[in-house]
Amino acid sequence: MTRISSKGATPAMAQWFTLKAENPEALLFFRMGDFYELFFDDATAAAAALDIALTARGTHAGEPIPMCGVPVAAAPAYLARLIRRGFRVAVAEQTETPRKGRPASKGPLARGVVRVITPGTLTEDELLEPGRSNLLLALALTAPQTKGKSKKAEASFADTVIGAAWIDVSTGLFETESLTGKGLPALLGRLDPAEILAPAILNLADYEARRAPETVASGADTARQRLASAFDVASIEAFGTFTDEESVAAAMAVEYVQRSQAGKLPRLAHPVPQNESGILGIDPATRASLDILRARDGGDEHTLFSAVNRTVSAAGARMLAEWLAAPLTHAGQIAARQEGWWWLKEDAVRREALRGTLKKAPDIARALGRLSLGRGQPRDLAAMRDGLMVAREAARILTAADAVLPPALHQAVTRLGGGQALEAELARALAENLPARLDDGGVIAQGYDAKLDEYRGLRDDSRRLIAGLQAKYAAHYGLNSLKIRHHAQLGYVMEVPVAASAKLKDKPELILRQGTASNARFATEELSTLDARITEAAEKASQREKELFGALVEQVLAERSMPVLAQALAVLDVLQSCADLAGNGTWCRPEVTEDFAFALEGCRHPVVEAALPAGTRFTPNTCDLAPQQRVMLLTGPNMAGKSTYLRQTALAVILAQGGFPVPADRVRIGVVDQLFSRVGASDDLARGRSTFMVEMTETAAILNQAGPRSLVVVDEIGRGTATLDGLAIAWAVLEALHSSVRCRAIFATHFHELSRLVDTLPRLSLHTMAVREWRGQIVFLHEVLAGSAKKSWGVHVARLAGVPHAVVDRAGRLLRELERAENTIPEPLPLFDTQKTLPPEPQNTLSKRLMDIDPDSLTPRAALDLLYELRKEA
Ligand code: ADP
Repeated sequence: MTRISSKGATPAMAQWFTLKAENPEALLFFRMGDFYELFFDDATAAAAALDIALTARGTHAGEPIPMCGVPVAAAPAYLARLIRRGFRVAVAEQTETPRKGRPASKGPLARGVVRVITPGTLTEDELLEPGRSNLLLALALTAPQTKGKSKKAEASFADTVIGAAWIDVSTGLFETESLTGKGLPALLGRLDPAEILAPAILNLADYEARRAPETVASGADTARQRLASAFDVASIEAFGTFTDEESVAAAMAVEYVQRSQAGKLPRLAHPVPQNESGILGIDPATRASLDILRARDGGDEHTLFSAVNRTVSAAGARMLAEWLAAPLTHAGQIAARQEGWWWLKEDAVRREALRGTLKKAPDIARALGRLSLGRGQPRDLAAMRDGLMVAREAARILTAADAVLPPALHQAVTRLGGGQALEAELARALAENLPARLDDGGVIAQGYDAKLDEYRGLRDDSRRLIAGLQAKYAAHYGLNSLKIRHHAQLGYVMEVPVAASAKLKDKPELILRQGTASNARFATEELSTLDARITEAAEKASQREKELFGALVEQVLAERSMPVLAQALAVLDVLQSCADLAGNGTWCRPEVTEDFAFALEGCRHPVVEAALPAGTRFTPNTCDLAPQQRVMLLTGPNMAGKSTYLRQTALAVILAQGGFPVPADRVRIGVVDQLFSRVGASDDLARGRSTFMVEMTETAAILNQAGPRSLVVVDEIGRGTATLDGLAIAWAVLEALHSSVRCRAIFATHFHELSRLVDTLPRLSLHTMAVREWRGQIVFLHEVLAGSAKKSWGVHVARLAGVPHAVVDRAGRLLRELERAENTIPEPLPLFDTQKTLPPEPQNTLSKRLMDIDPDSLTPRAALDLLYELRKEA
């Protein structure tokens, strides 16, 4: 923003300059009466972003001051638009209330910034997506100078230790994790934070736009102290073990939240250190290629999330998204989730009852967030009451008839108890029809508080008396047209048409308060007295109501079981969603094991299947990557269904390890630790990298990171360069995956030549997409068969795509000529001479035998036997 000197500003504008200087990064919403006004560059930017009129107000330094404004009542909608466009907004309210008799000479009312609204610190439903978390992520590094003394010891970025801490202000979630630089992209992809606090030297890649203005990080000891005092404990070790970096990041996040709420800290769960090792590694490119939570077009329609989501509450949808974003790697934990939904699936009646109840669940976590910030409204208290009711009902459904619950459900049920006194209190306290805002009055039920009832009684009696006065005055003055009305400024007055007012001119008991073109308005002693009484009683009632509301909020916040209960309801919702999905028998319960099994039978792609036109059936396929054939080479023309097959295999892993049902007949998967998927053209030209460069960068990432427990599915490696180049690279990558990475992999390619590698790579299996030729046309069967493609179908696909006949025919003739020419090449290209390109065969028999062993498929017992045997030979 251009710097404008505040010299010579009017008193109100001087206030504006002060507040703006404290919040230079934000648009300043400056409260003036019923409007938030914006000035200078803020006004220009906001008017353009909101498409509202830019006007001017007064002058500053001889120039008109640009201004625009939004009505306070409509502010949430405008704020939502500004935040979505990446703005931050500082809201300045009047912190002093105008009182009668306050001299104008005291200058404008005091104002202060009560809140800075940033993308990562939102609490209002209007600004949030119901089914998505909204995370603020803080990252902290060890200062480089503290690491190593010599230059050599300087760690590369990949090994730099990073502490991460993230907070969802709207729900109070607070977690931390330690990682290294190379894990950062995966963490960003998994959390998809709305806002990021990070030192400038950290490169946030695709997330750079979400960076918050830089904040100063404190040292680890200070950070620990600050956290301890924020959570009112002697030491944060009470919550677990935090590395220095995690503590610094956590303190950074807490302080940022505190500042954004003008010093007030919302109620946060205490920080929980996470252990990344329990989570399936999914890097950002893999996430992008699989459309897990968001589709590549940014929408959320054709996503894995939408295909499996049968939750009925916002909190359930958020938890489902969390589970999908971070599948597990512990078979036991996965099985616990499965047992939970399997039990519900088996009992359809109970499941339906539970589902019906959960549908009524309000968003407890977010309502709690607002209440803890003093931003709660009547409906937030109602959410607590209804949430407790839903919890009680859900627990009753699950425990009825002495059911023996699996651990996941049992744990949820035990967390649903509690809060009964609170529920009863809220049920008694809250009125039946709640107003939208506390200020509107009528929040507390009649009969809850004697004092409140008394004030309301006084107010209503006086109102009744006033209503009776109209008839009395009309008769007394002989004027049927006489009315008693309430006016904002005058209070209660007697109103008569001008024509009739002459009759009342000389009545001493009437005081003329106002004459308009059509009416005359009079006050009487009686009216004024009653008016004053009503105003006083109403004010007292409103004051009392606010006190009672505040007390109820305190009770809610004191109820420690509330956040846990909200979480338990969300878990139940996800489990019932899974049960519902598995209910019709087309989604199975996978078997997740500790070995290296990998067998999918009758597996389908949930998103492609759902999007197929009516009448088209999805062709299920089998995928067997057992240790003796853990690498699959998949050939077949474009459009035959290769990408779909690759993706569905990766999605099956995510679903199975997330504890979800899988769209297949039978699934058995030995836990995968990292998933790599490179499917579909990734186009990164905008960042100035060629398609081939991107492809190779991603290939490098896989080869450097994948291990024997990983699953790699790659499509068309080497397509981005000249044929021979590409073939050579694809060849070498396939060999590396097979023989050095030793992971499970599906390698789709249009280089049929690679099929020859089956002779030299023992764990390679050849598969191809079934295609039939019918009257010169190509028909895709979408079936994966053993073997390799006999021919290329590119020319056919070109015809299918509508390339003009003449061109297709010409291409066909050229192809035949080229094929004839190739067949007459006397010597095979050196590249295909595997004897020359493969690493030299081991010389002596012992090392040859060693090379033939597949350690991953040996039992410890067999390994020992083998060792003895080999020793004998040596
Ligand atoms: P490729 O990667 O070989 O070019 P795709 O996987 O993109 O082919 O598939 C092309 C289209 O074929 C998909 O959009 C989908 O409509 C259809 N398809 C793919 N696999 C199947 C299947 N198993 N059953 C039914 N239709 C399928």
